[in-house]
Amino acid sequence: MNRTMRAAVARTFGGPLRIEELPVPRPGPGEVLVRLKASGVCHTDVHAVDGDWPVQPALPFVPGHEGTGLVAALGPGYTGPLREGDAVGLPWLHDACGHCEHCVGGWETVCAEQHNTGYGVNGTFADYAIGRADYVARLPRLPDFRALAPILCAGVTTYKGLRETEARAGEWVAIAGIGGLGHLAVQYAKAMGFYVVALDVGEQKLGLASALGADVVVDASHGDADEQVRRVTDGGAHGVLVTAVSLPAFRQALAYVRRRGTISLVGLPPGEFPTPVFDVVLKRITVRGSIVGTRNDLSEALAFAAAGHVRAHYTTVPLAEADDVLARLRRGEVDGRVVLDIG
Ligand code: NAD
Ligand code: ZN
Ligand code: ZN
Repeated sequence: MNRTMRAAVARTFGGPLRIEELPVPRPGPGEVLVRLKASGVCHTDVHAVDGDWPVQPALPFVPGHEGTGLVAALGPGYTGPLREGDAVGLPWLHDACGHCEHCVGGWETVCAEQHNTGYGVNGTFADYAIGRADYVARLPRLPDFRALAPILCAGVTTYKGLRETEARAGEWVAIAGIGGLGHLAVQYAKAMGFYVVALDVGEQKLGLASALGADVVVDASHGDADEQVRRVTDGGAHGVLVTAVSLPAFRQALAYVRRRGTISLVGLPPGEFPTPVFDVVLKRITVRGSIVGTRNDLSEALAFAAAGHVRAHYTTVPLAEADDVLARLRRGEVDGRVVLDIG
């Protein structure tokens, strides 16, 4: 095996990411070394590199948390089910403590002791990355490594976020933001039997939403966008998934959610948005956050892709262009996902 590898490294907040030669990491006990084949580029990687959030990653670091590849080495003493050559995915949830009330209760995604790929531990914008053996995802047989990469974060996050709206088949869900997350959300929502109204501010994004099966598309920048959603849904969307990197989109969701409806927030623009108390109380609206998904959620999200119900719309670029992809995401210019072709 090679002793060094290429990695896209963030050394200052705000970028740029630079390709560097780093030693190939060695898996410790309970860990596996993964030879990456592909990695999606998520808007979270922009937030990480820009230091957008209250808790910032320690510099320098390698971003990326939608990795797919092959197990290249097992840590010392490993006796679990993984073997060298197995096809695996590296998700945002690098690991969790495994014994707190949340881990034991099926909510490992909110474990306070968790580590995150491409944030607290080096990520997938590299030839190799370390995974926690018990937390890597098993990919379906004969995997398409590039097409599956976006499922590792965008897929599982929207699948889980839609379930968290508690909408039922035959009801309306609104999806705000049709980027990497949203374009998969439209497909999960259709596969789950919902009527879908998609909102974005870009014409091309709305075109993609239609092509992927959205029943109605609404330009969120129109002054009467909330009125349009209420009209087509005959009273408001039962469930809303907000993936937009935009605070006005959060505020807007409160105006078109149905009475008794649930808004599932997954987008992470830094800041706050107003929640009109009167509306929330009298319409009995639920506003909740939703963060990625558990290992079980991820294997369900991958199964939808393996069955052909969901397929990422993506373009590939070489690892060396990772920084350019972040710039395009900041400008809102990515259609679907960009996947780094690594190996
Ligand atoms: P993206 O850049 O691919 O897509 C964002 C989309 O929002 C774009 O299509 C953009 O045009 C659209 N948008 C901008 N303003 C809008 C508005 N006012 N109304 C409607 N749409 C608008 O980003 P992404 O990779 O899909 O990530 C989206 C967000 O989700 C990021 O903040 C990311 O950090 C977050 N995220 C959260 C989780 C989680 O578990 N909660 C997981 C992954 C990503
Ligand atoms: Zn992500
Ligand atoms: Zn825990």
